[in-house]
Amino acid sequence: MSLLEVRDLVVHYGRLPALNGVSIDVPEGSAVALLGPNGAGKTTLLNTIAGALSPTSGSVTLDGVDVAGRPAYDLFGRGICLIPEGRGVFPNMTVADNLRIALAGQPSSARELVFEAFPRLRERVDQLAGTMSGGEQQMLALARAMGTAPRVLMADEVSLGLAPLLVAEIFDALRKVHREEGRTMLIVEQYATHALSIADHVYILSRGQVAWEGTPEELRSSGALLEQYLGAA
Ligand code: ATP
Repeated sequence: MSLLEVRDLVVHYGRLPALNGVSIDVPEGSAVALLGPNGAGKTTLLNTIAGALSPTSGSVTLDGVDVAGRPAYDLFGRGICLIPEGRGVFPNMTVADNLRIALAGQPSSARELVFEAFPRLRERVDQLAGTMSGGEQQMLALARAMGTAPRVLMADEVSLGLAPLLVAEIFDALRKVHREEGRTMLIVEQYATHALSIADHVYILSRGQVAWEGTPEELRSSGALLEQYLGAA
């Protein structure tokens, strides 16, 4: 049994289906990448797992308990943490205060671990979050999520709109947390390169269904797959 199991998930927006029978497995300690073109349903899947959307049918089990349709605060309490597309920091608060709120109830070492993963945040601890660059804000959003030691860390397109160097830095931190702390991750990206460098297993979503699953090596060696679903040769 995997830590997180999604089975035959169907999700509608009004009458239009966005997910049409999706099943994925996220084993404990693994990093799973969810790739696919625009509108494939990637964000919908993460939002449903996180409790922001209710499925029409199907199940989401965490440790064998069906949690589909439970409210987001319940799922967060069970350790399902989503970093939404477009960050999620309090812009009018300092970096320190953003972290204080996120890490309330965590051991005092949590803050230090966060600064080790993102040294840039230590340098900017008194800066208002909203005045930091997009990439730095994304780091803060990640730091807030990682610091809560979630059982499953879900990240939705953390690279969106960021300069390549910052993207590399963010993925280095994710990789470190995955490898060294064994953190379980479900990572959505539209472009494959960085996600594949962390992932143990890959799903390609297309038109609300799993179109392919396999290892990063299998995907990298298939130019046809990359071209068909990810627009890259
Ligand atoms: P992207 O890579 O562009 O973010 P995605 O794979 O994350 O795409 P979703 O955002 O999950 O895709 O969208 C899946 C489908 O559901 C799309 O056709 C989208 O237009 C539709 N959709 C998403 N959100 C809503 C909404 N709030 N109301 C109606 N339709 C929606």
